[in-house]
Amino acid sequence: MDRQTAKTQLQQLRIELNKYRRAYYTQDAPLVEDYIYDQKYQQLLHLEQQFPDLITPDSPSQLVGDIPASNLSKVTHEIPMLSMGDVFSFTELEEFNERVKNAVGHPVDYSVELKIDGLALSLVYQQGHLVQGSTRGDGTIGEDVTNNVLTIQNIPQTLSQPLDIEVRGECFMPKTAFAKLNQQREQEGASVFANPRNAAAGSLRQLDAKITAHRKLSTFIYTMVNPQAVSVPTQDQALLQMQQLGFNVNSERLISHDLAGVKEYIAKYQQLRDQLPYGIDGIVLKVNDFTLQERLGNTVKVPRWEIAYKFPPEEAQTTIRQIEWTVGRTGVVTPTAVMDPVQLAGTRVNRATLHNMDMIRQKDVRINDTVLLHKAGDIIPEVSQVLQDKRPQNTQSYEAPTSCPSCGSKLVHLEDEVALRCINPMCPAQVKEGLTHYASRNAMDITGLGPKIVEQLWQHHLVQDVADLYRLTYQDLTEIDGFGDKSINNLLEAIADSRQNSLEKLLFGLGIRHVGAKAAKLLAQKFQTMEKLMQASSTEILAIDTLGETIANSLQVYFANPKVQQLIQELTQLNVNMKFKGSSIAKTTKSIFSQQTVVITGTLAHYKRQELSELLESLGAHVTNSVSQKTDLLIAGTKAGSKLAKARQLGIKIMDEAQLQQQLQEEV
Ligand code: NAD
Repeated sequence: MDRQTAKTQLQQLRIELNKYRRAYYTQDAPLVEDYIYDQKYQQLLHLEQQFPDLITPDSPSQLVGDIPASNLSKVTHEIPMLSMGDVFSFTELEEFNERVKNAVGHPVDYSVELKIDGLALSLVYQQGHLVQGSTRGDGTIGEDVTNNVLTIQNIPQTLSQPLDIEVRGECFMPKTAFAKLNQQREQEGASVFANPRNAAAGSLRQLDAKITAHRKLSTFIYTMVNPQAVSVPTQDQALLQMQQLGFNVNSERLISHDLAGVKEYIAKYQQLRDQLPYGIDGIVLKVNDFTLQERLGNTVKVPRWEIAYKFPPEEAQTTIRQIEWTVGRTGVVTPTAVMDPVQLAGTRVNRATLHNMDMIRQKDVRINDTVLLHKAGDIIPEVSQVLQDKRPQNTQSYEAPTSCPSCGSKLVHLEDEVALRCINPMCPAQVKEGLTHYASRNAMDITGLGPKIVEQLWQHHLVQDVADLYRLTYQDLTEIDGFGDKSINNLLEAIADSRQNSLEKLLFGLGIRHVGAKAAKLLAQKFQTMEKLMQASSTEILAIDTLGETIANSLQVYFANPKVQQLIQELTQLNVNMKFKGSSIAKTTKSIFSQQTVVITGTLAHYKRQELSELLESLGAHVTNSVSQKTDLLIAGTKAGSKLAKARQLGIKIMDEAQLQQQLQEEV
């Protein structure tokens, strides 16, 4: 390849990879799968090897992580938290081993460990007491997450000896906690995390440690930063010492004198990977002797004495037989591919998300197509591509449905939304979703009332709206399959208990458009009773600092509906509490949109352009039309064109709709 072509390609790769890095490291919401990122990164490394003078300071090969963009305070790492080189084949592993042997003059022992899929964490202890926890950030500047770290159960707050030490390790979310969290977020209508790594990062990097406390994070500690200070000569002894001090150290480790042992270890854990209760994305090989580590030293980005062997992505082929559409609480209709069952990353799957009609068109997914599947973060199956050469003859482009799969009403696109919607308020699917949301934890918290029970209550004509829940009798519930005396009493008790909830839980549970848990709390605190809130004018609502016109309008429309008024009346008669019970609200944190100049472009599935502008302005953003040096953030829907290209060129932060939804759900 000639120099000019390489230069152009490198520039394109830098822009693309840096965009992915920002999304991954600072927003915890990756735009592409890791293996796609890794492939492009390898392409960049390969070109830079051929043309070293074309390496620029902003190349991902020179950068560790990304500069933290959150509101958390910053911490400087005196000893940088580096990244790690990676290899993808045994040949590359052997090359690494040769480099090490040549540099030190003899074969070495390796400490072989699992590469835990989470985010790096530093913990500083003084006199044996935990004084600081921080993230890696860009390697030199990280975020202070001390308060959050204190909520993680297996991090000792006091060590068994009064030492001044810094240790580092991986903070991760166990697979079961991840599945539960996503299930809960789905029920609450919030966007789900793409994988456990992002869920862990999003949960640790919270301004409110109470949120972290609920997220069931865990850690494995694997680095002692200054082992000489405690006279520990090798990595395996450091691991033992840290274990004795009270840290959680992964036991699936090995000391290997040669690569044969390492290869066996790789084969073993590639097999066992799916059975482990936490995610791993490879194994790590470290020169065991600290004196040799020091001799080998570091590049600007990675230590020369360790390497990660990354596992290949797990993919499977299968055939799509049907596309099923489901209706959500807000009427948005989303497609799922129903496929011939296939084994993927340890589980049998026969459904995969297709997101929306745009994605179906873009990938040209057709019934009877053979497709390649992967699991996003080992959990959620996704269609990565259609295998065109396996397409049977006479297939046809998939046409969007025109009527609601639940009630048959005509589906519409509201103004500039990509999503298809059913706008029939009596649509059974929406009513059932609404009931499940009402019972969810942040709403009325009715334990035991999940989607399956709601479905049965509906099938037996026992509930049609949330008021009916309070009319259920013991006799009614005997109709539910598998419900015995204990389950019936438990559910009745949970429903009865929910009558006492404070007003904000009811408000959130009613599922008023744009009113998230936080807005509900602010409204309840300001107006104190449902009656006063129903009578509130837009001006009074807008007087609440962080609430804007979108929410004010939505409340006006909602409470003006005679059916809603009747429902509130019925709930009152059924003794459901209509008053705010809390004393004060935790200090509201500053929005990430505050004082940011934001541009919106492309097509958005869930927001009307005007509504979104108002919502962002209510959070302190300044929304403008064109991208310039002054723009801080571009919100890019699908089919974004020149504005997106310009923002990329200017290195402006870009957020897609899923990231936006997630952020708004956290904030509003
Ligand atoms: P890395 O995550 O591949 O490796 C370094 C990290 O491994 C360390 O910081 C540490 O946190 C962790 N680790 C886990 N177990 C360990 C152990 N036993 N010993 C030591 N360290 C251990 O490197 P990175 O620079 O953080 O990220 C690069 C990777 O992140 C890429 O390979 C890619 O897969 C992913 N990435 C993905 C995207 C995307 O858009 N999908 C973007 C950027 C990065």
